[in-house]
Order: sequence, then C-alpha cells, then structure tokens
Amino acid sequence: MRRQQTPGGVDRSRLRSAAAALTSLSALAAMSLVAGPAAAVSGAGPCALARTAAHHSLGLDTWNGAYPRPVRSLDAVMVFLSFPDHRPGLAPEELAADHFPATSDFFDRASYGRFRLVAHPQERWIPMPRPSTAYGIQRDWAPADRAAYLRDAVTAADREIDFSRYDVVYFVADPDAPGVDSDATKVVNFDRPIRADGTDLRRIVTVFERHPPDRNVLAHETGHVFDLPDLYHRPSDGKGDWDTHVGDWDVMGSQFGMSPDLFAWHKWKLGWLDASQVDCVQSGSSLHTLQPVGVAPAPGSSGGTRLAVIRTGPGSAVAVEARGSAGNDGDTCTEGVLVYRVRNEAPSGGGPIEVLDGHPDTEACWDRSVYPPLADAPLEVGESFTVPGERIRIEVADRTASGAYTVKITT
Ligand SMILES: [Zn+2]
Repeated sequence: MRRQQTPGGVDRSRLRSAAAALTSLSALAAMSLVAGPAAAVSGAGPCALARTAAHHSLGLDTWNGAYPRPVRSLDAVMVFLSFPDHRPGLAPEELAADHFPATSDFFDRASYGRFRLVAHPQERWIPMPRPSTAYGIQRDWAPADRAAYLRDAVTAADREIDFSRYDVVYFVADPDAPGVDSDATKVVNFDRPIRADGTDLRRIVTVFERHPPDRNVLAHETGHVFDLPDLYHRPSDGKGDWDTHVGDWDVMGSQFGMSPDLFAWHKWKLGWLDASQVDCVQSGSSLHTLQPVGVAPAPGSSGGTRLAVIRTGPGSAVAVEARGSAGNDGDTCTEGVLVYRVRNEAPSGGGPIEVLDGHPDTEACWDRSVYPPLADAPLEVGESFTVPGERIRIEVADRTASGAYTVKITT
C-alpha cells in the first residue's frame, strides 16, 4: 500500500477519522499470514534472522516461494482499464511513461544490475463492463467491491492477454474516471490464486495514480510483489506522523523519500548482496569498511561490504550501513553511517525496521524531508553512537578515498 501525502506536503492522514483507521486494522488482520513455501538461501549465516509467519517478514534465512525472487529478468504486464462512465483523455503509452523506464531504472540501480524489470505496457484500453463509480474504489475499500473489480478486470483482460507470460501484473485504471481514487493504489494478495491461462495469479498491483503520479510509487508497490514490507507506521488515531520509523531512508517507507534506495537488509533479503558482502559482527571490537548502498560496483567487482549486522536476540538485529549521494540516493539530505533495528516478527506496517537517530536533538531538510527528525540520522566521520538498550557502540573512524566509511563496532 502507498502512504498518503497531498502535493503540498500536508499529510492527508491528519484529516482521516478514527473509523477509517479501525477499518484498516481489521483489513490487516484478515490478510493471509501463511508463511508460504520455503526456499533455502545459501550462506545466510548466524546474523540472518529466521523468516516468520508475519506478513512480509524480514527474516531472510529462507525465501518465501509464493513470491518471485528478483534475481533475474522478470516480465511485467501493464493493463489499462477504461470505464463506460468516462472516455479516457490520455493514451496508454502516456500512462506507461509515468512509470517506465523510471521504475526499471530504480531496480537496476538498487540491485546493482542483478535484476531487470521488463515492462510490457499494452497499447490499447481494455473496457470494464461497469462504471468506475460502481466499484467503491477507495483506500480501504470493501473486500466484495474490490473482488468484483478484480474479477471484472481479469475477465476483460484475459481475452487479450496471456497471463502465463508474466511475473508481475499491473492493472492501471483511467485516472480521470469519476470513481477512481489515487489512495487506493496497492498490491492485492489473493488467499486463493486466480487461475488464468493455466497460471496462478497470486497478486495484482492495482494502480489508481493521478497523471503525473507520485514519484517512485510503482517501485514501492513492486517491492511488495517481492515480499518487502511497508515500513511506514499508519497512525492509529489518523492524525500522527506516518514516517517515524524510517523517515526518508527506504522507498518502502515513503514514495516521497529523499533517499529512496532500499536498505542493505532488503537487498540482502532479495539476493542483491552476497553473504560475503555482509559482515556478521562477533563480540569484541572490529573494523568494517562499508560502501554506501547507492554506489554502483566497479566493473568486475562485487561492490564490497555493504552491511554490518549485530545479532541482538532470536528475532532481532542491529544493522549498520553507509548512505551517500549516489544512485537512487542522489538527492539525499545527509550522508553517513545509518544504524537501524530489524525485527523478524513485526509484520508489514508494524515497524519491522526502525532507524536509530544519530542526532536525536536536531532535524534537517525541513523543506524536503518526509520526517525531518530522521533526515540527519546518519553518523558522520568522528562521531560515535551507543545503541539504546544494547551494549553496542558504533564509531565512524574514517572515510576512504573511494567514499567508503570505516566503522568500528564494539559489542
Ligand atoms: Zn505499501
């Protein structure tokens, strides 16, 4: 699910009622929490938290085989749906250009070239049988209405599209149809797959974005297709801040973030980092050279160490990575060493990652940040940080000529 923000930066959530929040919680509870078939991940090591039954668990000792693993080229079909109550004013290719090649480029950079998302936008509108207003489209729409929408869309599209050829399915609604609400963009996972063209459709990305859309919104939704969780926190009273857990530091936190590259923990889970690029920190004192996650590897190189992990319990770890102005993080507010907690039992939207603020008394980038208190979270050279509640001390000793950070970790 995407989080909300009006173009002016005022969070629409402040206007939401408690009733809407309650609806969302019951919808979350109704979601399937099946752990799914497991595929072993090689070389995970003692710092790899175990995958749990939590929705989109960040445990990564095994891969959930119910999701495609993005370690090769995957094919994505983009289907454009029109409605009898509105004649589309845009061409499908204009809407495709809202998302591609930008989304593929995001994943090229994030995966260091290990994953290519190949988009197959359809050239023609596919007419839906009922008016856009008939489906009750909204952020927390009624399951029966949503099921009717998906059933009609699959039936209409199936006449023209061979779903067995694709790994990812995007249903893009005419953004100007009267019943379309951009807050409804999300990934719908099916408890029971829909059978079409001899293949099981396990999930569909339903896109209701405006034109032009929120930047990076499709990268966020596509992350869910690869079993990544929402990292934002949806305020239970409908008024608080959404971005207290990770701020700008991962696209799964906010599609508006200044530093939207994926956390190194996510890259490890997805198979974009080898075990050799993750330092599992043992007790004592050790030095680690961390390349910023956004920096592309030199040709012929693995890219070096990207992540240091300190196991703090059966289901928790502290992760340390470097962030700099490069790649997907080219517009970052601050650079340095970022520290965060990871919990494998926390479900999507339940705080599986929590960034620890290296500068808790200050804020940064008020004009651009989705959450200024965490915009200056990274530690700079010469600074040190003691992880609250843990006997872990992190010191940033140096920055090498290549831009890597030398970090001393004492546990
Ligand atoms: Zn989401």
